[in-house]
Amino acid sequence: MKILCPDKSEKTIEECAECAKCFPKPIMSMLLKGRNRKKKLNSKPRYGVTRLVGNCLRKTYYDLTEEVAMPLDKLWIFTRGTAIHEFVQKEIPEADNEIFKELIFPNFNVLGFIDAVHDGALYEFKTTANIPQKPQDAHILQAQAYYSMLDEAQRAKVEKILVIYFSMHKIKVFEVPARNIIPYLEARGAILTNSIEMKTPPKREEGYICSYCEHKDICFGHKLSTHNLSRKSEDLPVLSESSAQEPKTPKQATLDV
Ligand code: SF4
Repeated sequence: MKILCPDKSEKTIEECAECAKCFPKPIMSMLLKGRNRKKKLNSKPRYGVTRLVGNCLRKTYYDLTEEVAMPLDKLWIFTRGTAIHEFVQKEIPEADNEIFKELIFPNFNVLGFIDAVHDGALYEFKTTANIPQKPQDAHILQAQAYYSMLDEAQRAKVEKILVIYFSMHKIKVFEVPARNIIPYLEARGAILTNSIEMKTPPKREEGYICSYCEHKDICFGHKLSTHNLSRKSEDLPVLSESSAQEPKTPKQATLDV
């Protein structure tokens, strides 16, 4: 990961930590901790669920093939989200938290870290600036994907699926219907894998998210793609949940803007 300096230059994590002009060292340390993990190379792509259920598969493609420098303010949003996750998860027995699941398909795998399955409920926690009127489609799909990834015995114990939003001022709980969306995950993963192999981005899925997309200029042809076209899918990293955010924990809070 690179850091986008206020002077618009791009810095490595080490350079940013060494400089520390933006914030005092303890704050810099909090923001940069765990951001310098080396990406693992794998023979088979492994996509986090959030990559496949997000609003735009083309954005996911660019997330994987373009390196975008992050401003420190954005790292604070991620760090704060992780802290809220951990704060809530402390109230749930450890064995019921961060449940790892993996779906294996011929050309790729799908990884899921479920926030919690506890006392008859599957929980998906979201930190957000503003609580939505209804859960976002991508968040409903994410929770349903986790439900689909449970084995039969685990699914039988889930009576409800809850998506819970936390803002700085409020908490809101939504119940979403149970649904098996494994065919959807497989179809999205196949499109992404094929796009990476062909070095051709999937079609645009335009929506409100375009206003916040780091790849908008490349997507609409205002800027050239920078990714190395000789890169093969086997050079791509293991994609943990929300891996663009490079969290220290396996799963990072979703950034809602
Ligand atoms: S600008 Fe919009 S359509 Fe293009 S990659 Fe980003 S989210 Fe997708």
